[in-house]
Amino acid sequence: METDKSHRFSQLILCTAPAPLENFVGGVHVATADWDSSQVENSDKFITVTNPANGDVVTYCPISKQADVDHAVKVAAEAFGGWSARTMKDRAQIMIRFHQLIVKHRDELADLIVREHGKTKTEALGEIDKGNETIEYAISLPQLTQGKIAEVARGITCQDSRRPLGVVASIVPFNFPFMVPMWTLPLVVGLGNTIVLKPSEKVPLTMNRVAALFREAGFPPGVINIVNGAADTANLLSSHPGVRAVTFVGTSHVAELIYKKGTSIGKRVLALGGAKNHLVANPDCNIEMTAQDVVNSFTGCSGQRCMAASVLLTIGPQPKLIAEIVKRSKSLVFGQDAGAGKMGPVIDAASVKRINAYVTESEWQGAEILLDGRKMPAPVGLENGYWCGPSIVLHKKKSDKMLREEVFGPALSILEVASKEEAIEFENANPYGNAACIYTQDPWTADWFTKNFSAGMLGVNIGVPVPREPFSFGGINRSRFGDSDITGEGAINFFTWTKKITTKWAVPVDSNWMS
Ligand code: NAD
Repeated sequence: METDKSHRFSQLILCTAPAPLENFVGGVHVATADWDSSQVENSDKFITVTNPANGDVVTYCPISKQADVDHAVKVAAEAFGGWSARTMKDRAQIMIRFHQLIVKHRDELADLIVREHGKTKTEALGEIDKGNETIEYAISLPQLTQGKIAEVARGITCQDSRRPLGVVASIVPFNFPFMVPMWTLPLVVGLGNTIVLKPSEKVPLTMNRVAALFREAGFPPGVINIVNGAADTANLLSSHPGVRAVTFVGTSHVAELIYKKGTSIGKRVLALGGAKNHLVANPDCNIEMTAQDVVNSFTGCSGQRCMAASVLLTIGPQPKLIAEIVKRSKSLVFGQDAGAGKMGPVIDAASVKRINAYVTESEWQGAEILLDGRKMPAPVGLENGYWCGPSIVLHKKKSDKMLREEVFGPALSILEVASKEEAIEFENANPYGNAACIYTQDPWTADWFTKNFSAGMLGVNIGVPVPREPFSFGGINRSRFGDSDITGEGAINFFTWTKKITTKWAVPVDSNWMS
């Protein structure tokens, strides 16, 4: 049954009772094949989505099964011919209108993100703006993808021609309901592919609303499709025979599974995984700047960022820096309104339990708890929400689990090391490789660290070193399975193949080796 109720749903969700969502296929909202709105609770048809601030139900996410995924991939494959035949410039024109619509609906989309994800309004607005930067990059594709052409012998030219791949599947995590889908989607379709996106089942509302904006911008039916669901739907989609390439962003364990399965059946796969980001404070670091950066980095989005600070290594004892970090962290308050100094809840009750368990385990191992987020009371009236205060743990043992594993919450580990060599040895030993950062006022020290860190995105006096367009986003080690970055130039290569065309029109006067 085809309907078109996305906007009505988002209005309902903002104002009154929760309503179940639908998929978006062929330019319209469609119910899943086994849709039954009388079975939204505790069924295999829907997943309950709650507002992390208060635990209230905000919607029900449908679970797409084989028939739903088949339908979406078929529709995307049918749309590919016409879409890929258009010029890059033509596609960019639609992307410009899409960008304008995101700007127009920025506030409304940010409210949806706050509601389903829990981050603060300021963070949600920042997420929209960052997502819009990748749309802007895609708008420039006609200029960015001109390719080479050269006369390689008399009367003979060689030319690169970049061609889209076909249907691309994109599976995304919960922590950026808008920005992470925008890492792939604008470039995928801007380059002439069609896409089937699976949002996280924890935050399906935002992209459900954005779907209506795809249509309004003028993307033809079938170019952009959304199937909802969780792990099973992701696996059906990523292994579907009609899908040519897969991008995945999420935990490393799943990233590795998706990568191995997809490549074993001939797909092009790029799977980004988890992170354990190390910040190193050299003794000469600027205490004010370092302290503020570290606090912003480990508490921003309540620590649920793959670029968040997780471990601070101090070279030698740095009590003044640590005291400053604790003081600034203590001043944070729970809240979601716009403005600085606030922290929203984490995504679910399981996350609160996991994050606090790492702190408790460290305590058992003899670590000193400098700030105890476990004890921070939830805001009055929001006791059913998933609130988790900032914790700062000074470790005594390198073997503590919290120092080794991804925590993904507002918890900072601090470990003192004796030298810069020991700092690098510790950072290099962690299996991930998304971000690492050095705080120093000495360019030579900064240079040494950037050469020796084992991570893909490095900061010098920057706590969240996300490369901005045109630079590409991507880690190394277990933070990325596959050879490409997910944005920028790397992504342009990933989402296309390059044909090499050699042409001769006239018979050359002199014969040569290519005649
Ligand atoms: P997740 O791995 O639980 O889920 C990610 C996506 O995969 C979701 O759409 C989910 O439905 C699906 N999924 C879950 N289990 C699956 C399975 N067994 N098989 C197939 N699909 C499955 O991750 P999350 O909790 O949503 O997101 C947090 C994680 O994402 C963190 O580890 C974080 O570091 C990582 N992340 C990484 C980056 C990066 O750039 N490297 C960016 C954002 C988030």
